[in-house]
Amino acid sequence: MIAMQHDIPLESSGPNADAMAEAVSTCIRCGFCLSACPTYDVLQRESDSPRGRIILMKEVLEGAMPADKAAPHLDACLGCLACEPACPSGVSYRHLLSPYRSLVRERTTVAWPQRLQRWLTAQTLPYPKRFRFAARMGMIGKKLSALVPPVLRPMLELLPETLPAAKELQPRYAPMGDQVGRVALLAGCAQQVLAPQINEATIHVLRHIGLEVVVPTQQSCCGSLAWHVGDGDRAAKFARNNVRVFAGDQSSFDAVVTNAAGCGSGMQEYGMILRGTDIESQASDLAGKVKDVSVVVCEHADRLRLKRPALVHEGEAIVRVAYHDACHLANAQGVRVQPRELLRRVPDVELVDVAEAHLCCGSAGTYNLDQPETADELGRRKAKAVMATGAPIVVSGNIGCLTQLQTHLNSMATEAHPAPRVMHTMEFLSACLNESPSPNPILN
Ligand code: SF4
Ligand code: SF4
Repeated sequence: MIAMQHDIPLESSGPNADAMAEAVSTCIRCGFCLSACPTYDVLQRESDSPRGRIILMKEVLEGAMPADKAAPHLDACLGCLACEPACPSGVSYRHLLSPYRSLVRERTTVAWPQRLQRWLTAQTLPYPKRFRFAARMGMIGKKLSALVPPVLRPMLELLPETLPAAKELQPRYAPMGDQVGRVALLAGCAQQVLAPQINEATIHVLRHIGLEVVVPTQQSCCGSLAWHVGDGDRAAKFARNNVRVFAGDQSSFDAVVTNAAGCGSGMQEYGMILRGTDIESQASDLAGKVKDVSVVVCEHADRLRLKRPALVHEGEAIVRVAYHDACHLANAQGVRVQPRELLRRVPDVELVDVAEAHLCCGSAGTYNLDQPETADELGRRKAKAVMATGAPIVVSGNIGCLTQLQTHLNSMATEAHPAPRVMHTMEFLSACLNESPSPNPILN
């Protein structure tokens, strides 16, 4: 157990103390997690492995080490949770890392360029209108990159050449055919700006299987971006709003559906984010209703009417589709089977896995902004592995992964080996629905 003594610099270990202590004490230091950890793979240092980081966090929490000394290694952690399924002892790393980051945030020195970058990220990404404006400014800045401070350049690299037009979502969408249920949709933040077609496709597929889709207008960012970088207060503010909005009427929803892996895993941690507050139990109840869209669609998979995708060249008998596991879907939510099951149902599709599937692509929330070198190395490796499949389409369930993959695939593409098309699982599935003519006007 973590020994919280009088000489400890942290006055309190907060409401998640027991879960943190449990995670630390469960680690038997066997090292089985090392080979699963992407940062250990890249940096080859014990202190940048799960085992090393658990020891560092323990030392800081016990007052044996200043938080600043451990910070570079904790900052370098992707939060990808690949260490969890690899651990024979069942260490719940998620119950240690984010609460730890939240605890030490105010006690850690951050250089001003990083502080500026984190402030800009926190002030723009969670707010679609602000983010759209900032992205437009960034696209101008990209053309004048010599004038932009180096710390902000990784943010510009990830911006597309053009932004799709903004699309307002309606508060409610009726099911097609017989109704089998009613779900609420978390619309996401950056995703609405960078790829609004993902929500359109998600709503299309959910309606197709007979679900009414409600998009509560008062919803906010899920808070997971803030939670994963240790801004617990900001995360709690967003979570509190969403508990009010989604849980107020939650008995009428079969599920709260997310289509970005990071948002889904963040909402599933609402009980942890709001632990010790007056709405902890409401938050935990809501967290239990949050499901990735692939899980919900899989539950009604027999209602899907599918056709061969019209996304590839005529004459090709089989369509190869590569599937990339988003860490916050596979490791954090345990969702590996359902997206594959859905893709395999599409006629003439051959599903191929990507080599080194356990390795994060380097996106990991805002990691590619905070730690651009490691993120680039992982992004290049992932893009190379995707290219090696020879598949013309790569599918994943997280906007961060899609953006990271697109960036690195584009930089690797040649005339002889063009970049595969990058799509969200729901985009691919929506394009394969057998509806003639399409009854969904938002897709035309
Ligand atoms: S595999 Fe689990 S128990 Fe072993 S060192 Fe890693 S976290 Fe600790
Ligand atoms: S969360 Fe990912 S990067 Fe961090 S220690 Fe675990 S496996 Fe390594």
